[in-house]
Order: sequence, then structure tokens, then C-alpha cells
Amino acid sequence: MNAHRIAAIPGDGIGKEVLPAAQRVLDEAASRHGFALSWCELPWGCAWYAEHGTMMPPDGIDRLGETDAIFLGAVGWPGVPDHVSLWGLLIPIRRAFNQYVNLRPARLLPGLASPLRECGRFDVAIVRENTEGEYSEVGGRFATPAGDVAVQESIFTRRGCERVLRYAFDLARARGGRLVSATKSNGLVHTMPFWDEVTAEVANGHPDVEWRRMHVDALAARFITHPEDLDVVVGSNLFGDILSDVAAAVSGSLGVAPSANLDPTGENPSMFEPVHGSAPDIAGRGVANPIAQIWCGAMMLEHLGHPAAAADVLAAIERVTAEPALHTRDLGGTASTEEATSAVIAALPAR
Ligand code: ATP
Ligand code: MG
Repeated sequence: MNAHRIAAIPGDGIGKEVLPAAQRVLDEAASRHGFALSWCELPWGCAWYAEHGTMMPPDGIDRLGETDAIFLGAVGWPGVPDHVSLWGLLIPIRRAFNQYVNLRPARLLPGLASPLRECGRFDVAIVRENTEGEYSEVGGRFATPAGDVAVQESIFTRRGCERVLRYAFDLARARGGRLVSATKSNGLVHTMPFWDEVTAEVANGHPDVEWRRMHVDALAARFITHPEDLDVVVGSNLFGDILSDVAAAVSGSLGVAPSANLDPTGENPSMFEPVHGSAPDIAGRGVANPIAQIWCGAMMLEHLGHPAAAADVLAAIERVTAEPALHTRDLGGTASTEEATSAVIAALPAR
């Protein structure tokens, strides 16, 4: 089998520590399953920006387009504004490659404590719309006789809603068969009733999925009061963004929260990046938790058609989190990035 060509963008801060750590785990898992990953190392990010004035070279998107997947650490650094780091790398990639699904699983891993005392089972997948909705550039500031006004438009297209909802319902079918759609039709009277309408249409094609809609405020509370009730949660760009941070918090630490920016059609490369950022406060000290990045790697293997290798990586992660001596500092332990990574490799099931 040919090696999969993967773009590796460590980016900034702890991205430079956790990405190489995860690459080691994935190389090992791949070799045990008889395939290989061919890494294309791309030193893009804020250091590149300092030298070249852009976050990536002008042919960056073309080069990424030649790969099978993009494995990203973190981008962003103090002193570089978000509109440069975010809009100069992450957002162009998501848009160029039509990565319209942002999938964020969150689970209470063995051995980890949720800040919620009563949290028993917690295993959800948040599906966030990733290309339109509330995060649009339409709007502006206007001076009026009554004072300044800022307007921010939301764009919801039928095609955009339908495709992400279809993905979410398909995922619910493959998981526990339950889905909640986040809405706020009592306050957002144009976009949300439309979202709800498309949800109901897509639901008609999935009679085996038990679903309901909930107002996003009540749903956020539900994550805290009854996290065990939730399975697949689908939301617009803004709602999905907020709910996935809530979900990551319930599961214990940002250090274990993965995400995937997917083009489910497979026409373009998808991008796998942890939820966390570059963590300047701990960068360069070898103490970052590599689990989120490694879990992203498992999602990437699954996406590339290697579910058994992905399952092995997840099993190894669970063996490591179950062992308090192997916890990094964010989980209350003392293990270094290197110790946690080597432990995951050692915990990979024998083949
Ligand atoms: P961004 O704006 O890029 O999302 P941020 O400032 O919101 O970044 P992070 O960089 O994710 O947030 O850091 C938030 C906090 O979580 C920091 O205190 C950081 O040290 C901690 N943190 C984030 N990721 C990890 C990790 N992998 N291991 C340990 N601690 C982490
Ligand atoms: Mg953040």
C-alpha cells in the first residue's frame, strides 16, 4: 500500500511539542497495521509570519491540496493578532478545502475526573457547522444620527445547513441513535426557524434516529446537569463553538480535547487539530499534554480508512489516562510530554 501523504504543521507554542509526539505514536500504530505515513513538514505559523509577513507561503493552499490530510498543532502567539493568525491560516484552509463539519468528540476518559461531581457516563460528539452561520464577514459599523451602530449578519444557506445536518444524523445513526439540534428560534427569528425546518426535513430521512431540538441556553445547562443524556449534538457555527468548549470542560481538560475539520465528501484533505491553542504559558517546557493531539491523530487514521489502527491508538490513550502516574500537569500529575507519549506507544495493543 502506498504511504498516505500528510501535511504536518506544528505551528506555534506547544504545537511544536505535541505534534511531533503524536507523529511518533501514529508512525508506530501505522507500522503495526502494515501501512505508512509520509510526513510533509511545513514550518508555517507565527514564526513564519515574523520572517515572511504571511502565515504560510502564497502557494500554501496548493501544496496542502496535494496531501491526503492535514495534521496541525496550534497557531497563534502573543503579539500576533487573531485576524492574522486565524484568518491567515486556519480559516483559509477550512474554506479552500470545504471542511464544512467541525467534529469534536468529548468523553470522560478512564482515570480522569470531570469538574462535575456527579458526572458518570459522558460520551458526546459535537458537530459544528464550520463554514457559514454567525461567523460571517457581512456587516459593519455605521455612524447614525442616534449614535454608532454595529451590524453583524448571519448567513444560513439551505445547502450549508442540509449538508452538516445530514452528516450529524448519519453520525447519530452510527453511534447511539440519539441527536439534539441546538436552536434559539425564540430569539433569532429568521435564521433559527430556518435551521429547525431543515433539521426536520433531514430527520425525515433518518426515522431510526431519535432527535429533538433544544434552545442553546437550556442545552448548555443540560451539559452540566445531565451530561449522560447527550449523544450527538449538532449546532450552527457559533452554537457549536460554544457547546464544544462546554463539552471539553466537562470531560476534564483542554489537554484531552480533539477536533477534526472534515470535508466528508473526501474530495479535499481534512484537517485534524486539537481544541486547545498554543498555550504560551507552558510552551517550551515539555509539560504539555499530548493526548488531545494524539486523539486527533486517531481520528485522522479513521478518516484515512484505518479504523483498527485508530481504535488501537484510542485504547492506548485510555490505558495511559487510567494510570495517574502518567498524567501530565493539567490532569494533576507530574508526567512530561515525553513520558506521556512514550507511555501511549508502550500501551499500543500488540499485533
Ligand atoms: P487560543 O486562542 O489559541 O484558543 P487560548 O489562549 O484560548 O488559545 P490555550 O492556548 O488553549 O488557550 O490555553 C488555555 C489554557 O489551557 C492555558 O493555561 C494552557 O496552558 C492550558 N492548556 C492548553 N492546552 C494544553 C495542553 N495540551 N496541555 C496542558 N495544558 C494545556
Ligand atoms: Mg481559545
